[in-house]
Amino acid sequence: MKYFKRYQTKKINVGGVIIGGGSPIAVQSMTNTDKLDWNAAVRQIKELQEAGCEIVRMSLPDIETAQNVSKIKKQIKIPLVADIHFDYRIALEAVKQGVDKLRLNPGNIGGQENVEAVVREAKAAHIPIRIGVNAGSLKKVRTINNNLLRAKALSSAAMEHIHILERLKFYDIVVSLKASNIETTVEAYKIFASKRNYPLHLGITEAGSIFSGNIKSAAGLGIMLYDGIGDTIRVSLTADPVEEVKSAYSLLQSLQLRSAGIEIVSCPTCSRTEVNLIKIVSEVEKAVSKMKNLKKLKKPLKVALMGCIVNGPGEAKDADFGIAGGKNCGILFRNGKIIGKVSPNKWVSKLVSMMRNYRK
Ligand code: SF4
Repeated sequence: MKYFKRYQTKKINVGGVIIGGGSPIAVQSMTNTDKLDWNAAVRQIKELQEAGCEIVRMSLPDIETAQNVSKIKKQIKIPLVADIHFDYRIALEAVKQGVDKLRLNPGNIGGQENVEAVVREAKAAHIPIRIGVNAGSLKKVRTINNNLLRAKALSSAAMEHIHILERLKFYDIVVSLKASNIETTVEAYKIFASKRNYPLHLGITEAGSIFSGNIKSAAGLGIMLYDGIGDTIRVSLTADPVEEVKSAYSLLQSLQLRSAGIEIVSCPTCSRTEVNLIKIVSEVEKAVSKMKNLKKLKKPLKVALMGCIVNGPGEAKDADFGIAGGKNCGILFRNGKIIGKVSPNKWVSKLVSMMRNYRK
């Protein structure tokens, strides 16, 4: 987006994906398969890859799960992040197994010796660490009854973990400061971004289902992204993680921060609409979601589906092409100029074929 400046952050390499320093905002998600079924994790990660996920995180609750990391890594193409709580030995195993990043809070993995052991191995393997503070799991934050004060406490909590790593001369750090309340989250990130330049992983935690979670995440992440804060995002949803990736791209695309390839725009319909636009749009979106290699598009493609000829072509004139509905027909237009007619039952196939040809 041209109209705001992103905060300048340090560049961190996560298994070949650069986070921060003005790099494209990386899209992340997290697996939710059975902890010991590593084949299921591979299958899910492949689906996430296909959807455009760039970094995937996996919880490693015990050593047995961590021991599967190298088997998983061999079959996937995107960097794998190990999510670890409390047990430094799992972190050591994950590093040994070739994980690309650790998500842990150094203040929570035991004494100084444990932290030193993890930092030593992470340094040797050039693996960054994400410090992820979460308002719900920090008693001293949770008990504060004021969003702004909670935000300050959240940022201070992150700072305490950072100091532990910095004292060991470890600076390969990414930070997240999540809460389920938007004001707390936004203010915590703002406070942190004004103080330090470590890249920021954005998310609204416990956001909810596909519907409510998307709205809450779009509101919260949208405010921060518009302010130039954020280097990587995860839209947390109680849903198939592929949905998180789709939502993340849609959000970044709506802010012109990333291009997911094809953007479908459509009108809300009104009494002028004489075609079943709602059904047609959903069919086109389904077809687009199945199209592969969208990232290979030379430039983002905007396709419009409008309900009437009176306003459709004009309102959607910045679309590359589209169709506006008439009585039992559709007017095909390109860059606002009418180029032909299409009957309603051919809208989907016509647009899909034009999108395919556009890619060549
Ligand atoms: S484009 Fe036409 S059908 Fe769609 S909302 Fe506008 S006036 Fe109504």
